[in-house]
Amino acid sequence: MKFINREAKMTKNKKNESGYDKREKILLEQDTEEDLILNISLRPQKFSDFVGQKKIIENLKISLTAAQKRKEVLEHIFFSGPPGLGKTTLAHIIAHELDAKVTATSGPAIERAGDLIGILTNLGKGDILFIDEIHRLSKVIEEFLYPAMESFQIDFVIDKGPYAKTIKFSLKPFTLIGATTRAGLLTAPMRERFGMFHHLDFYEAEDLVEIIKRSSKILNIFVDEEGALEIARRSRGTPRVANRLLRRVRDYAEVKKDGKITKEIADEALSLQGVDKEGLDNIDRKILKVIIETYKGGPVGIEALSATLNEEKDIISDIVEPFLLKIGMIKRTPRGRVAADKAYAHFNLKGAPKELF
Ligand code: ADP
Repeated sequence: MKFINREAKMTKNKKNESGYDKREKILLEQDTEEDLILNISLRPQKFSDFVGQKKIIENLKISLTAAQKRKEVLEHIFFSGPPGLGKTTLAHIIAHELDAKVTATSGPAIERAGDLIGILTNLGKGDILFIDEIHRLSKVIEEFLYPAMESFQIDFVIDKGPYAKTIKFSLKPFTLIGATTRAGLLTAPMRERFGMFHHLDFYEAEDLVEIIKRSSKILNIFVDEEGALEIARRSRGTPRVANRLLRRVRDYAEVKKDGKITKEIADEALSLQGVDKEGLDNIDRKILKVIIETYKGGPVGIEALSATLNEEKDIISDIVEPFLLKIGMIKRTPRGRVAADKAYAHFNLKGAPKELF
């Protein structure tokens, strides 16, 4: 994701107040060019290659078949969920299954109405327009998009003041697929224009094992069952992280051993990278420690956390926090984040004072 990569780059190589080096984070690091090429080769092309999220896949298949039978264009689809769970991949799979062309962009990339007009007028019948981070579209662009989504029309305004004229321009019927990590930030009028909503949740270890096996086949890596499970357990329920860790462990296995990935090798390589048994990275541990030590277990608001850690608020709330909430390390209360007993146990500390909950 462009936005995250940019943020990661911005924060690279800085040591902050709380004393951790930002280069030590696997979770937020920027993909290298090689990573980006590999990511494309690892991206599933068809529903049958996409592991997990069974209910969503079943529903999508039904919608696709129904639309094809009726010879209609597929309704607009909205995907939400933490980064790296397969939203972009699904948009590409849908296009592939429908034999349609896909144009991919993102909310912040569409700066002017002209950019959007260019994209929309180039879409053919049944094509897919994928907009990542759709919650970051500007208000002007969003309003421009409403008639395009609703009636496949755009309104141009030419000239200004008393001479202003609106010209309607018809588009070919298309399907918009919007994705966001922050479903709550989507405006109500935008939400109303989508026909289908799907929320992607973190993956179970067994699904990640499948993904790791599939990727290792493509990349020609030997990984045994236990090795795959060890990487899966430490991948924060996220396919993108699983693929990244697999490559890291492969590098270690090639340099230190014979290239084969076993449980032992995976454990050594990941521990060396700072990824612990729960899959927590340096930034996760830092956040937990700041809540426990600096804020005495919490509650602490996101602004205070972000200031103490010198880390973007969005990075904490979109990338780091969802997994900590999911595995019960922190809890959200009306007054802010609180460290749960599990977090204290993780650092071998005595539990949180009970009056916090
Ligand atoms: P998002 O758009 O949600 O941030 P992506 O679709 O870019 O996530 O997925 C990140 C990477 O993880 C992809 O390159 C793909 O290889 C892999 N991936 C995601 N979901 C799956 C899945 N269900 N099965 C196999 N690989 C997956």
